[in-house]
Amino acid sequence: MGVTIIGAGVAGCTTGYLLSQNGYDVTIVEKDAVGGLLREIEFDTGYHCDSAPHLLFYDEEEEAVVGELFSEFTDLERHDFYAKTYPTGTLEEPHDYPVSRANIDRWDDGDRIREELENAEGKTDADYFDQYMLKQVGPTLYERYNENYTEKHWGVEPSRITGDWFDFKISFPDDEDSFFDGGAFYPDEKYTSVLKEMIEDCDVVFDGVSGLETDGDRILALETESGQRLEDDLFVSTIDPSFLVDDIDVSLNYRSMVILGAHVEASERLFPSHVNWGYFPNDYEFTRITDYDFTPQSIPEGEYILTVEFPCFVGDDLWSRDAEWFDDYLLSFLDEQGVDATVLDSEARRAPRAYPLPVEEEIQKFELINGQVSEYENMHNLGRVSTYEYIWIKDIVQQAYETVEEITAAVAQ
Ligand SMILES: Cc1cc2nc3c(=O)[nH]c(=O)nc-3n(C[C@H](O)[C@H](O)[C@H](O)COP(=O)(O)OP(=O)(O)OC[C@H]3O[C@@H](n4cnc5c(N)ncnc54)[C@H](O)[C@@H]3O)c2cc1C
Repeated sequence: MGVTIIGAGVAGCTTGYLLSQNGYDVTIVEKDAVGGLLREIEFDTGYHCDSAPHLLFYDEEEEAVVGELFSEFTDLERHDFYAKTYPTGTLEEPHDYPVSRANIDRWDDGDRIREELENAEGKTDADYFDQYMLKQVGPTLYERYNENYTEKHWGVEPSRITGDWFDFKISFPDDEDSFFDGGAFYPDEKYTSVLKEMIEDCDVVFDGVSGLETDGDRILALETESGQRLEDDLFVSTIDPSFLVDDIDVSLNYRSMVILGAHVEASERLFPSHVNWGYFPNDYEFTRITDYDFTPQSIPEGEYILTVEFPCFVGDDLWSRDAEWFDDYLLSFLDEQGVDATVLDSEARRAPRAYPLPVEEEIQKFELINGQVSEYENMHNLGRVSTYEYIWIKDIVQQAYETVEEITAAVAQ
Protein backbone atom coordinates (compact mmCIF):
# COMPACT_ATOMS: atom_id res chain seq x y z
CA MET A 1 0.00 0.00 0.00
CA GLY A 2 1.38 3.42 -0.95
CA VAL A 3 1.12 6.70 0.94
CA THR A 4 2.24 10.10 -0.29
CA ILE A 5 2.97 12.71 2.37
CA ILE A 6 3.06 16.44 1.57
CA GLY A 7 5.78 18.28 3.49
CA ALA A 8 9.03 17.10 5.12
CA GLY A 9 8.83 18.98 8.41
CA VAL A 10 8.65 17.08 11.70
CA ALA A 11 5.00 16.15 10.95
CA GLY A 12 5.75 14.64 7.54
CA CYS A 13 9.01 12.94 8.54
CA THR A 14 7.62 11.37 11.72
CA THR A 15 4.59 10.05 9.86
CA GLY A 16 6.81 8.82 7.01
CA TYR A 17 9.05 6.99 9.47
CA LEU A 18 6.20 5.31 11.32
CA LEU A 19 4.41 4.28 8.11
CA SER A 20 7.54 2.85 6.52
CA GLN A 21 8.18 0.90 9.74
CA ASN A 22 4.68 -0.54 9.27
CA GLY A 23 5.48 -1.72 5.74
CA TYR A 24 3.93 1.09 3.66
CA ASP A 25 5.60 2.45 0.52
CA VAL A 26 6.07 6.09 1.44
CA THR A 27 6.74 9.04 -0.86
CA ILE A 28 7.31 12.50 0.62
CA VAL A 29 6.84 15.61 -1.55
CA GLU A 30 8.75 18.63 -0.26
CA LYS A 31 8.78 22.03 -1.88
CA ASP A 32 11.91 23.35 -0.20
CA ALA A 33 14.23 21.23 2.00
CA VAL A 34 13.86 18.51 4.62
CA GLY A 35 13.24 19.90 8.11
CA GLY A 36 10.61 22.63 7.66
CA LEU A 37 10.64 24.96 10.66
CA LEU A 38 13.20 22.66 12.32
CA ARG A 39 15.83 23.23 9.63
CA GLU A 40 18.97 24.73 11.15
CA ILE A 41 20.75 27.88 10.00
CA GLU A 42 24.28 26.84 8.97
CA PHE A 43 27.09 29.40 9.13
CA ASP A 44 30.15 29.44 6.84
CA THR A 45 32.18 29.60 10.05
CA GLY A 46 31.18 25.98 10.77
CA TYR A 47 28.62 26.63 13.53
CA HIS A 48 24.85 26.37 13.39
CA CYS A 49 21.69 27.27 15.26
CA ASP A 50 17.98 26.55 15.07
CA SER A 51 15.74 28.94 13.23
CA ALA A 52 14.64 30.24 16.64
CA PRO A 53 15.28 27.86 19.54
CA HIS A 54 13.56 24.49 19.23
CA LEU A 55 13.39 22.62 22.48
CA LEU A 56 11.67 19.35 23.08
CA PHE A 57 9.57 20.10 26.10
CA TYR A 58 7.42 17.36 27.42
CA ASP A 59 6.48 15.65 30.63
CA GLU A 60 8.52 12.44 30.83
CA GLU A 61 5.68 10.52 32.47
CA GLU A 62 2.67 11.82 30.58
CA GLU A 63 4.09 12.64 27.15
CA ALA A 64 6.93 10.15 26.83
CA VAL A 65 6.32 9.34 23.18
CA VAL A 66 8.31 12.24 21.67
CA GLY A 67 11.33 11.44 23.86
CA GLU A 68 11.13 7.75 22.97
CA LEU A 69 10.95 8.50 19.26
CA PHE A 70 13.82 11.02 19.18
CA SER A 71 15.97 8.78 21.41
CA GLU A 72 15.97 6.19 18.62
CA PHE A 73 18.11 8.66 16.63
CA THR A 74 19.97 10.86 19.11
CA ASP A 75 20.84 11.35 22.76
CA LEU A 76 18.66 13.97 24.44
CA GLU A 77 20.02 16.23 27.11
CA ARG A 78 17.75 17.63 29.80
CA HIS A 79 18.13 21.36 30.53
CA ASP A 80 16.68 23.90 32.90
CA PHE A 81 16.12 26.88 30.64
CA TYR A 82 15.89 30.40 32.07
CA ALA A 83 14.73 33.53 30.27
CA LYS A 84 14.52 37.25 31.06
CA THR A 85 12.34 40.05 29.79
CA TYR A 86 13.53 43.61 29.21
CA PRO A 87 10.56 45.97 29.68
CA THR A 88 12.78 49.05 29.96
CA GLY A 89 14.64 48.09 26.77
CA THR A 90 18.04 47.93 28.42
CA LEU A 91 20.04 44.76 28.88
CA GLU A 92 21.23 46.12 32.22
CA GLU A 93 17.73 45.69 33.65
CA PRO A 94 16.69 42.05 33.26
CA HIS A 95 13.31 41.12 34.78
CA ASP A 96 12.21 37.53 35.41
CA TYR A 97 10.41 35.68 32.65
CA PRO A 98 7.97 33.99 33.32
CA VAL A 99 6.94 37.35 34.80
CA SER A 100 7.21 36.91 38.58
CA ARG A 101 5.79 38.73 41.59
CA ALA A 102 9.40 39.59 42.45
CA ASN A 103 9.49 41.81 39.34
CA ILE A 104 7.12 44.23 41.09
CA ASP A 105 9.90 45.33 43.46
CA ARG A 106 11.82 46.64 40.45
CA TRP A 107 9.28 49.38 39.77
CA ASP A 108 8.99 52.69 41.68
CA ASP A 109 5.20 52.36 41.70
CA GLY A 110 5.31 48.84 43.19
CA ASP A 111 2.66 49.69 45.82
CA ARG A 112 0.13 50.62 43.18
CA ILE A 113 0.89 47.44 41.21
CA ARG A 114 0.44 45.33 44.35
CA GLU A 115 -2.91 47.02 44.99
CA GLU A 116 -4.02 46.27 41.41
CA LEU A 117 -2.94 42.70 41.86
CA GLU A 118 -4.90 42.38 45.11
CA ASN A 119 -8.03 43.65 43.37
CA ALA A 120 -7.54 41.41 40.33
CA GLU A 121 -9.90 38.46 39.92
CA GLY A 122 -7.11 35.92 39.32
CA LYS A 123 -7.06 33.15 36.73
CA THR A 124 -10.27 32.99 34.70
CA ASP A 125 -11.34 31.36 31.48
CA ALA A 126 -11.71 34.71 29.65
CA ASP A 127 -11.99 34.23 25.88
CA TYR A 128 -9.59 36.95 24.77
CA PHE A 129 -5.97 37.55 25.70
CA ASP A 130 -6.33 41.10 27.06
CA GLN A 131 -9.20 40.16 29.39
CA TYR A 132 -7.39 37.02 30.50
CA MET A 133 -4.27 38.95 31.46
CA LEU A 134 -5.99 42.03 32.90
CA LYS A 135 -8.09 39.86 35.19
CA GLN A 136 -5.01 37.98 36.31
CA VAL A 137 -2.44 40.71 36.87
CA GLY A 138 -4.18 44.09 36.57
CA PRO A 139 -3.51 46.92 34.09
CA THR A 140 0.05 48.01 34.94
CA LEU A 141 1.79 44.64 34.79
CA TYR A 142 -0.22 43.77 31.69
CA GLU A 143 0.78 46.97 29.95
CA ARG A 144 4.48 46.70 30.88
CA TYR A 145 5.12 43.03 30.12
CA ASN A 146 2.38 41.69 27.83
CA GLU A 147 0.37 44.19 25.83
CA ASN A 148 2.93 45.56 23.41
CA TYR A 149 4.81 42.25 23.17
CA THR A 150 1.63 40.41 22.24
CA GLU A 151 0.65 42.96 19.62
CA LYS A 152 4.16 42.89 18.17
CA HIS A 153 4.29 39.09 18.14
CA TRP A 154 0.89 38.51 16.52
CA GLY A 155 0.37 41.75 14.56
CA VAL A 156 -3.22 42.04 15.84
CA GLU A 157 -4.73 43.74 18.90
CA PRO A 158 -4.66 41.51 22.00
CA SER A 159 -8.44 42.09 22.37
CA ARG A 160 -8.94 39.86 19.28
CA ILE A 161 -6.59 37.07 20.30
CA THR A 162 -8.29 33.90 21.41
CA GLY A 163 -7.25 30.32 22.16
CA ASP A 164 -6.82 27.64 24.74
CA TRP A 165 -3.08 28.20 25.16
CA PHE A 166 -3.09 31.22 27.55
CA ASP A 167 -3.00 29.03 30.59
CA PHE A 168 -0.13 27.01 29.24
CA LYS A 169 1.95 30.04 28.20
CA ILE A 170 1.37 32.36 31.16
CA SER A 171 2.31 31.43 34.70
CA PHE A 172 2.87 33.94 37.45
CA PRO A 173 5.42 32.52 39.93
CA ASP A 174 6.58 34.31 43.09
CA ASP A 175 10.21 34.33 41.99
CA GLU A 176 12.52 33.51 39.10
CA ASP A 177 11.44 30.17 37.69
CA SER A 178 12.77 27.95 34.92
CA PHE A 179 10.94 28.10 31.65
CA PHE A 180 9.33 24.67 31.39
CA ASP A 181 8.03 22.86 34.44
CA GLY A 182 7.78 19.38 32.95
CA GLY A 183 11.19 19.14 31.32
CA ALA A 184 13.04 20.56 28.35
CA PHE A 185 15.34 18.44 26.23
CA TYR A 186 17.74 19.22 23.44
CA PRO A 187 19.10 16.69 20.93
CA ASP A 188 22.81 15.93 20.50
CA GLU A 189 22.29 15.53 16.76
CA LYS A 190 20.91 18.32 14.57
CA TYR A 191 17.16 18.15 14.02
CA THR A 192 17.64 17.96 10.26
CA SER A 193 19.97 14.95 10.62
CA VAL A 194 17.41 13.21 12.82
CA LEU A 195 14.58 13.88 10.36
CA LYS A 196 16.68 12.80 7.36
CA GLU A 197 17.53 9.55 9.11
CA MET A 198 13.84 9.00 9.89
CA ILE A 199 12.93 9.11 6.21
CA GLU A 200 15.82 7.03 4.85
CA ASP A 201 13.38 4.37 3.63
CA CYS A 202 11.01 6.87 1.98
CA ASP A 203 11.22 8.29 -1.55
CA VAL A 204 11.55 12.07 -1.46
CA VAL A 205 10.37 14.19 -4.39
CA PHE A 206 11.43 17.86 -4.29
CA ASP A 207 8.51 19.75 -5.82
CA GLY A 208 5.64 21.93 -4.60
CA VAL A 209 2.15 20.45 -4.46
CA SER A 210 -0.26 22.81 -6.22
CA GLY A 211 -3.56 20.91 -6.27
CA LEU A 212 -5.45 17.63 -6.26
CA GLU A 213 -6.91 15.44 -8.95
CA THR A 214 -10.04 13.91 -7.48
CA ASP A 215 -12.89 11.57 -8.29
CA GLY A 216 -15.79 12.31 -5.93
CA ASP A 217 -14.59 11.71 -2.38
CA ARG A 218 -11.28 10.16 -3.42
CA ILE A 219 -7.99 11.77 -4.30
CA LEU A 220 -6.41 10.13 -7.33
CA ALA A 221 -3.21 12.16 -7.60
CA LEU A 222 -1.37 15.27 -6.50
CA GLU A 223 -0.57 17.95 -9.04
CA THR A 224 2.73 19.72 -8.64
CA GLU A 225 4.25 23.05 -9.59
CA SER A 226 6.56 21.41 -12.14
CA GLY A 227 3.60 19.63 -13.77
CA GLN A 228 4.06 16.17 -12.23
CA ARG A 229 1.08 13.98 -11.39
CA LEU A 230 1.75 11.84 -8.30
CA GLU A 231 -0.72 8.97 -7.95
CA ASP A 232 -1.13 6.97 -4.77
CA ASP A 233 -3.57 5.02 -2.55
CA LEU A 234 -3.46 7.32 0.48
CA PHE A 235 -2.33 10.90 1.13
CA VAL A 236 -1.22 12.80 4.20
CA SER A 237 -1.00 16.60 4.19
CA THR A 238 1.08 18.72 6.55
CA ILE A 239 0.77 21.99 4.56
CA ASP A 240 -1.54 25.00 4.33
CA PRO A 241 -4.90 23.37 3.39
CA SER A 242 -5.92 26.28 1.18
CA PHE A 243 -3.47 24.90 -1.44
CA LEU A 244 -5.67 21.82 -1.69
CA VAL A 245 -9.08 23.34 -2.42
CA ASP A 246 -10.28 24.80 -5.70
CA ASP A 247 -13.89 25.72 -5.00
CA ILE A 248 -13.28 28.02 -2.03
CA ASP A 249 -11.59 31.25 -2.91
CA VAL A 250 -9.99 32.11 0.44
CA SER A 251 -6.44 32.01 1.67
CA LEU A 252 -5.38 31.55 5.26
CA ASN A 253 -3.29 34.16 7.05
CA TYR A 254 -0.41 33.00 9.16
CA ARG A 255 1.92 35.11 11.25
CA SER A 256 5.30 35.05 9.59
CA MET A 257 8.77 35.65 10.88
CA VAL A 258 12.19 36.65 9.67
CA ILE A 259 14.75 34.96 11.88
CA LEU A 260 18.22 36.44 11.85
CA GLY A 261 20.81 33.81 12.75
CA ALA A 262 24.13 35.48 13.53
CA HIS A 263 27.56 34.28 14.59
CA VAL A 264 28.99 37.33 16.34
CA GLU A 265 32.11 38.36 18.17
CA ALA A 266 31.12 40.61 21.07
CA SER A 267 32.64 42.39 24.04
CA GLU A 268 30.23 40.63 26.44
CA ARG A 269 27.45 38.05 26.74
CA LEU A 270 24.02 39.68 26.41
CA PHE A 271 22.24 37.88 29.25
CA PRO A 272 23.09 36.76 32.80
CA SER A 273 25.15 33.55 32.62
CA HIS A 274 22.30 31.12 33.43
CA VAL A 275 19.90 32.75 30.95
CA ASN A 276 19.48 31.65 27.33
CA TRP A 277 17.04 34.10 25.87
CA GLY A 278 15.47 37.49 26.39
CA TYR A 279 12.07 38.95 25.46
CA PHE A 280 11.67 42.55 24.35
CA PRO A 281 8.19 43.95 25.10
CA ASN A 282 9.16 47.40 23.79
CA ASP A 283 9.46 49.14 20.44
CA TYR A 284 12.38 47.18 19.00
CA GLU A 285 11.28 45.38 15.84
CA PHE A 286 12.23 41.99 17.31
CA THR A 287 10.54 40.02 20.08
CA ARG A 288 13.27 37.69 21.29
CA ILE A 289 17.03 37.11 21.17
CA THR A 290 18.49 33.69 21.95
CA ASP A 291 22.05 32.71 22.86
CA TYR A 292 22.80 29.15 21.68
CA ASP A 293 25.47 28.21 24.17
CA PHE A 294 23.28 25.28 25.25
CA THR A 295 23.84 23.49 21.92
CA PRO A 296 26.44 20.71 21.68
CA GLN A 297 29.12 22.71 19.81
CA SER A 298 32.08 24.42 21.37
CA ILE A 299 31.88 28.11 20.61
CA PRO A 300 35.11 30.10 21.13
CA GLU A 301 35.36 32.54 24.05
CA GLY A 302 34.02 35.98 23.11
CA GLU A 303 31.90 34.58 20.24
CA TYR A 304 28.17 33.98 20.36
CA ILE A 305 25.61 32.24 18.20
CA LEU A 306 22.38 34.25 18.32
CA THR A 307 18.97 34.33 16.72
CA VAL A 308 16.86 37.45 16.63
CA GLU A 309 13.15 37.01 15.83
CA PHE A 310 11.32 39.61 13.75
CA PRO A 311 7.58 38.82 13.48
CA CYS A 312 5.73 40.25 10.48
CA PHE A 313 3.31 39.39 7.69
CA VAL A 314 4.44 38.32 4.23
CA GLY A 315 4.57 41.52 2.18
CA ASP A 316 5.31 43.86 5.12
CA ASP A 317 8.33 46.15 4.75
CA LEU A 318 10.14 44.05 7.32
CA TRP A 319 9.54 40.82 5.34
CA SER A 320 11.19 42.33 2.26
CA ARG A 321 14.28 43.81 3.91
CA ASP A 322 17.65 42.39 2.85
CA ALA A 323 20.09 40.45 5.01
CA GLU A 324 22.30 43.50 5.53
CA TRP A 325 19.41 45.45 7.09
CA PHE A 326 18.95 42.74 9.75
CA ASP A 327 22.69 42.66 10.54
CA ASP A 328 22.72 46.45 10.86
CA TYR A 329 19.63 46.42 13.08
CA LEU A 330 21.24 43.92 15.45
CA LEU A 331 24.54 45.80 15.51
CA SER A 332 22.92 49.16 16.20
CA PHE A 333 20.86 47.60 19.03
CA LEU A 334 24.05 46.14 20.53
CA ASP A 335 25.84 49.43 20.12
CA GLU A 336 23.00 51.23 21.98
CA GLN A 337 23.46 48.69 24.78
CA GLY A 338 27.19 49.38 24.99
CA VAL A 339 28.15 46.02 23.45
CA ASP A 340 30.92 46.17 20.89
CA ALA A 341 30.17 43.53 18.23
CA THR A 342 31.05 42.28 14.75
CA VAL A 343 28.99 39.84 12.68
CA LEU A 344 31.22 36.95 11.51
CA ASP A 345 28.44 35.33 9.47
CA SER A 346 24.66 35.53 9.36
CA GLU A 347 21.54 34.43 7.54
CA ALA A 348 18.07 35.97 7.53
CA ARG A 349 15.73 32.95 7.33
CA ARG A 350 12.10 33.56 6.31
CA ALA A 351 9.28 31.48 7.80
CA PRO A 352 6.05 32.42 5.98
CA ARG A 353 3.83 30.17 8.11
CA ALA A 354 5.41 30.37 11.54
CA TYR A 355 2.18 30.63 13.55
CA PRO A 356 -1.54 30.12 12.83
CA LEU A 357 -3.25 33.41 13.72
CA PRO A 358 -5.39 32.92 16.85
CA VAL A 359 -8.26 35.19 15.76
CA GLU A 360 -11.84 34.12 15.12
CA GLU A 361 -12.08 35.17 11.44
CA GLU A 362 -9.05 33.07 10.51
CA ILE A 363 -10.19 30.07 12.54
CA GLN A 364 -13.57 30.21 10.76
CA LYS A 365 -11.83 30.38 7.38
CA PHE A 366 -9.71 27.38 8.35
CA GLU A 367 -12.81 25.42 9.35
CA LEU A 368 -14.44 26.15 6.01
CA ILE A 369 -11.38 25.03 4.05
CA ASN A 370 -10.68 22.06 6.29
CA GLY A 371 -14.31 20.95 5.98
CA GLN A 372 -13.75 20.46 2.29
CA VAL A 373 -10.35 18.76 2.60
CA SER A 374 -11.65 16.33 5.24
CA GLU A 375 -14.34 15.06 2.87
CA TYR A 376 -11.70 13.10 0.99
CA GLU A 377 -11.74 9.57 2.39
CA ASN A 378 -8.10 8.82 1.51
CA MET A 379 -6.59 12.05 2.93
CA HIS A 380 -5.29 12.64 6.50
CA ASN A 381 -3.78 15.81 7.86
CA LEU A 382 -1.59 16.77 10.79
CA GLY A 383 1.01 19.29 11.97
CA ARG A 384 0.97 22.92 12.98
CA VAL A 385 0.46 24.47 9.55
CA SER A 386 -2.12 21.98 8.34
CA THR A 387 -4.33 21.80 11.47
CA TYR A 388 -3.96 25.57 12.07
CA GLU A 389 -3.31 24.91 15.75
CA TYR A 390 -0.71 26.52 18.02
CA ILE A 391 0.94 23.20 18.84
CA TRP A 392 4.42 21.91 19.60
CA ILE A 393 6.74 19.16 18.42
CA LYS A 394 5.49 16.83 21.17
CA ASP A 395 1.87 17.30 20.02
CA ILE A 396 2.81 16.75 16.38
CA VAL A 397 4.63 13.51 17.18
CA GLN A 398 1.54 12.38 19.12
CA GLN A 399 -0.62 13.28 16.08
CA ALA A 400 1.70 11.26 13.83
CA TYR A 401 1.21 8.12 15.97
CA GLU A 402 -2.56 8.68 15.93
CA THR A 403 -2.61 9.22 12.14
CA VAL A 404 -0.65 6.02 11.55
CA GLU A 405 -3.03 4.12 13.85
CA GLU A 406 -6.04 5.48 11.94
CA ILE A 407 -4.51 4.54 8.59
CA THR A 408 -3.57 1.06 9.75
CA ALA A 409 -7.01 0.46 11.26
CA ALA A 410 -8.78 1.66 8.08
CA VAL A 411 -6.58 -0.49 5.83
CA ALA A 412 -7.18 -3.56 8.04
CA GLN A 413 -10.98 -3.29 7.56
C1 LIG B 1 9.89 30.87 16.39
C2 LIG B 1 9.40 29.48 16.69
C3 LIG B 1 9.88 28.81 17.80
C4 LIG B 1 9.40 27.53 18.10
N1 LIG B 1 9.90 26.87 19.19
C5 LIG B 1 9.45 25.62 19.48
C6 LIG B 1 9.96 24.90 20.60
O1 LIG B 1 10.84 25.38 21.33
N2 LIG B 1 9.45 23.66 20.86
C7 LIG B 1 8.47 23.10 20.07
O2 LIG B 1 8.04 21.98 20.36
N3 LIG B 1 7.98 23.76 19.00
C8 LIG B 1 8.44 24.99 18.69
N4 LIG B 1 7.95 25.66 17.59
C9 LIG B 1 6.92 24.99 16.79
C10 LIG B 1 7.52 24.00 15.81
O3 LIG B 1 8.56 24.61 15.08
C11 LIG B 1 6.45 23.57 14.81
O4 LIG B 1 5.31 23.16 15.52
C12 LIG B 1 6.90 22.42 13.93
O5 LIG B 1 8.22 22.57 13.46
C13 LIG B 1 5.93 22.36 12.76
O6 LIG B 1 6.20 21.21 11.99
P1 LIG B 1 5.27 20.85 10.75
O7 LIG B 1 5.86 19.65 10.12
O8 LIG B 1 3.85 20.83 11.18
O9 LIG B 1 5.37 22.13 9.75
P2 LIG B 1 6.63 22.68 8.95
O10 LIG B 1 7.87 22.51 9.72
O11 LIG B 1 6.24 24.03 8.50
O12 LIG B 1 6.70 21.69 7.69
C14 LIG B 1 5.89 21.83 6.56
C15 LIG B 1 6.74 21.47 5.34
O13 LIG B 1 5.91 21.51 4.18
C16 LIG B 1 6.64 22.09 3.11
N5 LIG B 1 5.67 22.65 2.15
C17 LIG B 1 4.94 23.79 2.26
N6 LIG B 1 4.15 23.95 1.19
C18 LIG B 1 4.38 22.88 0.37
C19 LIG B 1 3.86 22.48 -0.86
N7 LIG B 1 2.94 23.20 -1.50
N8 LIG B 1 4.30 21.32 -1.40
C20 LIG B 1 5.23 20.57 -0.77
N9 LIG B 1 5.77 20.90 0.43
C21 LIG B 1 5.35 22.05 0.99
C22 LIG B 1 7.47 23.17 3.79
O14 LIG B 1 8.58 23.54 2.98
C23 LIG B 1 7.87 22.46 5.08
O15 LIG B 1 9.08 21.75 4.92
C24 LIG B 1 8.41 26.93 17.27
C25 LIG B 1 7.95 27.60 16.14
C26 LIG B 1 8.43 28.87 15.84
C27 LIG B 1 7.92 29.57 14.62
